[in-house]
Amino acid sequence: MPEIVPPPCVSHCRPVLAHPPQTMFRALVIEKDDAGYRAGVKTVGDDSLPAVEGGVTVDVAYSTVNYKDGLAITGKSPVVRKFPLHAGIDFAGTVSDSSDPRFKPGDAVLLNGWGVGETHSGGLAQKARVKADWLLPVPQGLSLRQAMAIGTAGYTAMLCVLALEKHGVAPGSGDVLVTGAAGGVGSVAVALLAQLGHRVVASTGRVAEAGFLKGLGAVEVIDRAELSSPGKPLGKERWAGVVDSVGSHTLANACATTRYGGAVAACGLAQGMDFPGSVAPFILRGITLYGIDSVMAPMARRAEAWARLARDLDLARLDALTTETTLDGALAAGAEILAGRVRGRLVVDVNR
Ligand code: NDP
Repeated sequence: MPEIVPPPCVSHCRPVLAHPPQTMFRALVIEKDDAGYRAGVKTVGDDSLPAVEGGVTVDVAYSTVNYKDGLAITGKSPVVRKFPLHAGIDFAGTVSDSSDPRFKPGDAVLLNGWGVGETHSGGLAQKARVKADWLLPVPQGLSLRQAMAIGTAGYTAMLCVLALEKHGVAPGSGDVLVTGAAGGVGSVAVALLAQLGHRVVASTGRVAEAGFLKGLGAVEVIDRAELSSPGKPLGKERWAGVVDSVGSHTLANACATTRYGGAVAACGLAQGMDFPGSVAPFILRGITLYGIDSVMAPMARRAEAWARLARDLDLARLDALTTETTLDGALAAGAEILAGRVRGRLVVDVNR
């Protein structure tokens, strides 16, 4: 638990306490100054939290390591744009203080995105202070830990599934491809789609994880090398729908092999941000490419996604794809996730 200590005594302080006592807590702090870009786990005070008018303070229980957290921790891409900043694009925890009538102390809440962990201090810390508008109640049936085992990657997987469903991709429509299948978005997408009755084909570079992916419900596992090199404008029609977390040639080839009238939900760039495809699948097969953004998604869509996750995700499969680590472990995991070496979801218990 965070400890309470008096503020540091400075020479101009009066003997009567001029400041309320500070609560000290641990956070994974990103700094950038003359000494360079660095990330480290530190003990910080309440004064490190942003001032938020009408804000809510949360005792964080769990956060996670998403691909974007890896970029923030390593500094490989400029996702952090304010320094110093507590990392972590998502969290689940308990409200400790609220200036907003929608939330009261003791409420279980979760947060994804909104620039948290990028321009606003985030969830890889024992405390966070955020806008009330950014918070959702943790859906009934999910614990704080399960909410973050899903985390931003899992919620994004659900946004992809919703896009395919709204397009009309239904169980029985045909094979649904999931790329980056052994990663966070991919593994939750496999579990979700299988649970919903789809025939899921999982594409992975880690074919040794075929057993893991079949355990999540994939009926077939293919080597990602089938999709990751430059391909033809059109290929054999294979997929009724696609969830792609990889981008680049993989996304182009997925589009080129999507069946007439099918749909692709693109959310990621693990292979690359480029899209070296052609218009052929769009104008000759009438396929649709849906762009999926989780960060600024409107509240109604988030609420729908989280309600569906609570209803449709098999919690035993969620448990099977989840590993737990500490704040110090999260620091080390930043480079690991970028290297594609994190399997499934990595949940962070920020209090150990
Ligand atoms: P992970 O690292 O957990 O998963 C990414 C997976 O992609 C890896 O596990 C690997 O799967 C595959 N992969 C990695 N490198 C390559 C490569 N060079 N070529 C082909 N495949 C590769 O990350 P997340 O699941 O957290 O995120 C996945 C992507 O989705 C990221 O790009 C992330 O930025 C994006 N994202 C976007 C969101 C949005 O709002 N649009 C929200 C959340 C994530 P395997 O080993 O199975 O091949």
